[in-house]
Amino acid sequence: MKCAICSRETGEKSYCELHAKAYENIVKKYNSWKKALEISWKEYLSEISKNSLTGKWAKEVAEYLIKSGGKKSVT
Ligand SMILES: [Zn+2]
Repeated sequence: MKCAICSRETGEKSYCELHAKAYENIVKKYNSWKKALEISWKEYLSEISKNSLTGKWAKEVAEYLIKSGGKKSVT
């Protein structure tokens, strides 16, 4: 398979290593944001995609997730 974001060859995964890691961090961060803020997954994604402190990889993942409908259940 190819990474859904950058089209690198990934073996059997839907993201390459870098994007998979960025995705994991996004999910982890969301869990801690949720404790402090009333924020939906979609709102959170658009926040981090706009945030200049977000790393390049995480930004690409966030943008991809927004485009693909904000679904959280990608493995
Ligand atoms: Zn990738």
